[in-house]
Amino acid sequence: MTVDRSRYSQTIKRCRAAELRRNKEFIDSFKKNGCSICGYKRCLAALDFHHPDPQKKEIPFGLKRSTYSIRKIARMVKDCIVVCSNCHREIHAGMITAPPKRRTKDQEELPLI
Ligand SMILES: [Zn+2]
Ligand SMILES: [Zn+2]
Repeated sequence: MTVDRSRYSQTIKRCRAAELRRNKEFIDSFKKNGCSICGYKRCLAALDFHHPDPQKKEIPFGLKRSTYSIRKIARMVKDCIVVCSNCHREIHAGMITAPPKRRTKDQEELPLI
């Protein structure tokens, strides 16, 4: 029996592209309100997710390029605040304190534990 490998891998590629696009749109929807500290929102790529609990792992930078399920991403981002990369560095440098998580409309709709 011969398996048409090239067709199979093409299908995988298409699925992956669709997943990546879906994840990017989902993640960007959290960022559209901009930085929780300075309000910056000109470039969504310059916005990070900061986890207020230093014991917890921060959202990996490559999240957007991952094919995690929407559920997993939602779980990861719902505890985080959106900050621009400048403010994010300042938080980690101890220059400013991260504000308490701001509840946006979108995030309110997510189930809170
Ligand atoms: Zn900022
Ligand atoms: Zn951080």
